[in-house]
Amino acid sequence: MLDTLRRIVQEVNSAADLKDALELMTRRVRDAMGTEVCSIYLLDAQEQRYVLMASEGLKREAVGCVSLGATEGLVGLVGMREEPVNLEDAFSHPKFLYLAETGEDPFHAFLGVPVMNQGKVLGVLVVQQRDNRRFDQSEEAFLVTLSAQLSAVVAHARANGSIEALARKAAPNSTAIYEGLVGASGAAIGTAVLLFPPADLAAVPDREAEDIEAEVALLESALVRVRADVRALSERARGRLGDAEQELFEVYLRMLDKHALAGEIVASIREGHWAQGALRTVIDTHVRAFEMMDDDYLRERAADVRDLGRRVLAELQSRNRRPQAFPDNAILMGEEITPTMLLEVPQSRVAGIATIQGSRNSHMAILARAMGIPTVVAPSLPLKQLDGRELIVDGFRGRVIANPPAELRHQFQVIIDEERTLMAGLEKLRELPAETRDGQRIALQVNTGLFTDISRSLQRGAEGVGLYRTEIPFMIRDRFPSEEEQQRIYREQLQSFAPHPVTMRTLDVGGDKALPYFPIVEDNPFLGWRGIRVTLDHPEIFTTQLRAMLRASEGLDNLRILLPMVSSVFEVEEAQQLIHRAWLEVCEEGADILLPPVGAMIEVPAAVYQARALAQRVDFLSVGTNDLTQYLLAVDRNNRRVADLYNFYHPAVLHALAQIVAAAAAEGKPVSVCGEMAGDPGTALLLVAMGVEVLSMNAPNLLKVKAAIRNVARSDLEQLLAEVLQMDNGEVIEAYVALQLERAGLEELLGKRVVA
Ligand code: PEP
Ligand code: MG
Repeated sequence: MLDTLRRIVQEVNSAADLKDALELMTRRVRDAMGTEVCSIYLLDAQEQRYVLMASEGLKREAVGCVSLGATEGLVGLVGMREEPVNLEDAFSHPKFLYLAETGEDPFHAFLGVPVMNQGKVLGVLVVQQRDNRRFDQSEEAFLVTLSAQLSAVVAHARANGSIEALARKAAPNSTAIYEGLVGASGAAIGTAVLLFPPADLAAVPDREAEDIEAEVALLESALVRVRADVRALSERARGRLGDAEQELFEVYLRMLDKHALAGEIVASIREGHWAQGALRTVIDTHVRAFEMMDDDYLRERAADVRDLGRRVLAELQSRNRRPQAFPDNAILMGEEITPTMLLEVPQSRVAGIATIQGSRNSHMAILARAMGIPTVVAPSLPLKQLDGRELIVDGFRGRVIANPPAELRHQFQVIIDEERTLMAGLEKLRELPAETRDGQRIALQVNTGLFTDISRSLQRGAEGVGLYRTEIPFMIRDRFPSEEEQQRIYREQLQSFAPHPVTMRTLDVGGDKALPYFPIVEDNPFLGWRGIRVTLDHPEIFTTQLRAMLRASEGLDNLRILLPMVSSVFEVEEAQQLIHRAWLEVCEEGADILLPPVGAMIEVPAAVYQARALAQRVDFLSVGTNDLTQYLLAVDRNNRRVADLYNFYHPAVLHALAQIVAAAAAEGKPVSVCGEMAGDPGTALLLVAMGVEVLSMNAPNLLKVKAAIRNVARSDLEQLLAEVLQMDNGEVIEAYVALQLERAGLEELLGKRVVA
């Protein structure tokens, strides 16, 4: 059984599209279980109906046409119960609904299992048999296992819009709404541009060929290179391989022949597809054909075809290095957009971002917020289908609207204009202090990393930099920057903000921040080699960075050094020794530099409990609430599945923060917050109530936070904090704080603009 399962899963996963996957699944399950019928019903979420999407055994004409309401029939019962329903005689069950179009009259035995993904029913997988009999436990377990596998395929297809396309044959121009999470608030209207990772055949979208002859020529030259590579490989292997293995290279070359794959790809280009898309379609078809074969040897050939496809794609992509054209208001769209991908795109062209993966606290989203780009993470975005279409990114409510009607577009334009007016209205606060009504002064600083952050921050009256993420300039290079290069970049920051302090965090890579030239591959990267753990293991990288920072600060004396991901005291002590040594070195070389203050980030629970011991050793503490929340709540900050568990208002987070502030106060050391909590008016005010006197945030939020602070009294905030610290539910706390702020007339600042 295990073999059969594995085989079915493999075949279904390599199916070309959802239709193929479903047909394959029904065929294979029916054969494996020896039943007369196997059918798949998928839930059309918008219509709330189960649509018969594939069947072996029921009438073919019924597929795609027959549907049942979400609570109707035995299928509806499986969906409602969210568990298998196994009946000896379906006809005698009160929920049985007779559907004449399916021709199911003679089938009595019924076993239906739900297809579930992330706690939601996506559909129902059903087997039926003529005789009255109950399916046994192993059959039930077999179907449940397959349904779990099918759920991933269906969820992915949903993400590609295939379900809607199959079920309702949706016109590509029809309006559609895709619900998701807010990555960065704000709204944007623009044209979708799909960014896809290189060297991934499955990710290649369908695009029309702009110039058919040019695409054919591109393919021909890619093929010439691949043929030459295969010949070279063959030459190198000569003598080491037997005749049979050597013959494989000939097979490869024949496959690339114009009478084989190459001919088919050219034909597809001539039908109007771009070369990469034509390649993907042809390779997919052949891979599937080989995978379906019963002969082991022939089945293995699927891997060869896939390999050839990848080689040709790599050549096509390396030849197609023309910079991608971006329309004026581009909405970047992708399965995932990494910080590096985002940084490669001309910023002035980007209006919004819509992705399938990520969450509010992934670094992509943080970067998007720093750049003021509205961002939504919507798992069901049909990426390939939306490429080039008009989109609205609604980063207030967390949704993407494709092909919006004129009326809706107009409403969003009004919101975009209002938001601009709000920001313009806040401009007058630029020179005013962030001071509560009862005189509590708070320093508002910015988080930076990009060169363009400097002017954005100065325009908003930032009082220095609370967190300069030095890894960002490292990310946009193809090697570690030299000491001189780093010195130049750091000097720019220090000079621009002088005499205000600039807090430079030492290199914080690992987790979800990878340097293309320094890959860290781990099973559990957030619990692995990250931040200070990397730099202490690589003193040569660390010291180069420290020397560059110190040298850059000469004559300005506004540098502060911050250590990320500290989890024990010895890390701070070791880092301090290295800082001291680097300082002595540069001083001996003739530089006249003050030893800068050194701070530790409080980002992991261990550091919360050691906050006092850390505060004794450093000059200041800075709380990284993004990671602290992730580690306290054991919720991966990038994982959309658990994104609703990631909550800054969780009582554990608030109590931990209060404890850190108390520990710093007991040692007489200042504490700042540089995570995203500092940039949200609601959480920022709670931090002020706790006694945090420095908040560092993305520049676009600075004036909103300042407006909030200037409109409240610290004494009222303390009262609010005392109340919420008694509460035990993060969502209730969040709602309560929002209500109090609305009552105080701050609703405009809460970023909750909503269009129905
Ligand atoms: C944090 O973790 O809160 C933080 C500021 O660091 P980063 O988001 O860069 O991990
Ligand atoms: Mg962090």
